[in-house]
Amino acid sequence: MAKPQSSKSSAKNKTAIQPTREADFPEWYQQVVRAADLAENSETRGCMVIKPWGYGIWELIQQQLDAQFKATGHQNAYFPLLIPLSYLEKEAGHAEGFATECAVVTHHRLETAKQEDGSVKMIPTGELTEPYVIRPTSETIIGAAFSRWVESYRDLPLLINQWANVMRWEMRPRMFLRTAEFLWQEGHTAHETKEEAIEETRTIHRLYETFLRDHLAIPVIAGEKTEAERFPGADMTLTVEAMVQDLKAIQAGTSHYLGQNFSKAQDISFTARDGSQQHAYTTSWGVSTRLIGTLIMAHSDDDGLVLPPRVATQQIVIVPVTPKEDSRQAIIDACEALAEVLRREKSYGGQPLRVHVDKRDIGGGVKKWEWVKKGTPIRIEIGPRDLEGGKVCLQRRDQAANEKAFVPKEDFIRNVTDILQEIHSNLLAKATELRDSNISECNDLETFEKHWSQEMPGWLSTPWCGSREQEEELSKKHKITIRCLPIDQQDGPEAPCVLTGEATSQRAIWGRSY
Ligand code: AMP
Repeated sequence: MAKPQSSKSSAKNKTAIQPTREADFPEWYQQVVRAADLAENSETRGCMVIKPWGYGIWELIQQQLDAQFKATGHQNAYFPLLIPLSYLEKEAGHAEGFATECAVVTHHRLETAKQEDGSVKMIPTGELTEPYVIRPTSETIIGAAFSRWVESYRDLPLLINQWANVMRWEMRPRMFLRTAEFLWQEGHTAHETKEEAIEETRTIHRLYETFLRDHLAIPVIAGEKTEAERFPGADMTLTVEAMVQDLKAIQAGTSHYLGQNFSKAQDISFTARDGSQQHAYTTSWGVSTRLIGTLIMAHSDDDGLVLPPRVATQQIVIVPVTPKEDSRQAIIDACEALAEVLRREKSYGGQPLRVHVDKRDIGGGVKKWEWVKKGTPIRIEIGPRDLEGGKVCLQRRDQAANEKAFVPKEDFIRNVTDILQEIHSNLLAKATELRDSNISECNDLETFEKHWSQEMPGWLSTPWCGSREQEEELSKKHKITIRCLPIDQQDGPEAPCVLTGEATSQRAIWGRSY
């Protein structure tokens, strides 16, 4: 992996998280999830329990994205969890794409059977005549509703979003990044024309790109998936790809143009302006709790989670330092009063500041490290001397854990929003530097082969116009994939394709991924 910047604590080999990123990145990730109290594995295969600190991040992602969907004309609705099998059979390409990941409900009753030893066994009975699939995604069932809702061109565009859980029977689950059940939003829209539907697909793609940058401090490569990597049933899949600290790629969100594939299968048809019957053009798009896994891997360090301020469950934690009983209450009161002023008078990203006062009766050092590991952007301590001097002790998660500054309380209140924004900008700058210094231009096959066979780090950008078969062969050989064909390089200068030598203006980004 990329060499992490050494904090003072790691220089002394005293990191809060063991192992470090450099020693074992996947295990480090699990330990950060645990140390920050974000989530835990459950006894249900591949499914996790999301704990309050982790769910708080998801709620903020949800609120902030939801506002953007509504501002772009979308409305929320809710559709059934169980999809009749026959719905999936209507769109063969789509169904085949998900076939190996489907959980199927086949019974609707349990019978109690008493065992000889007195224990009780529950046996499923009442077999269903038509099984249901637990939604792996909802194109089919939402399409069925759309076919009832759309009659005329006047009913279009139909712009719907659903916040829901879905289930995909993943073989290699990993908390947040790839779970069998996950939380997401899925947008589904229907349009009168192909151009409008493509524009919608692109609008959401840009929305995801700017959301990741401005809310999660994650710079992505925005591009199109090749046919081999496309969503089952889509004509075009746009993706935002994030690079994380071990230089692997994470597909952080996707926006699909579905053409008329689903509307023909499900009869989403309408009377057009000229009186003819037409099939609508549809799109679908989604981001999931994978965003939390992505931000952990993008920003966190060997002391634990590092949260971008906009989605931090708490942005500021105030810790009263009360060594003497006689000043104890006054210090706690001052902490509460500061929290109140910050919550009432200050906002960041259009939301009131989230401030917590940690009054627990435990040692200061334990408290401090808990908040470091949880990634709280700003930690404030107020002790007897600070109280006397009208100051606060300020510590920031984007700085070394032992760095502190004593600042006048009023200055802190005045500057707090700027500090949060500075933390965001620092995280974004660091992630951008990591990404940009680890994508190499590669114009010949020899260098390409050498890069992957010698396990060299980072992604490669190559001129590319190979076929699907050629792509799949290279992917299999080197355990890589084309992450995307970057949008901003689609019409660049022509160069010979790295494999075929044919002149092309298209570039492909190759990498290993989660
Ligand atoms: P898709 O419908 O396959 O395009 O998925 C939409 C988005 O959901 C993807 O871009 C991923 O970011 C995310 N996603 C897909 N599978 C999983 C999973 N098993 N766990 C968490 N997130 C997922």
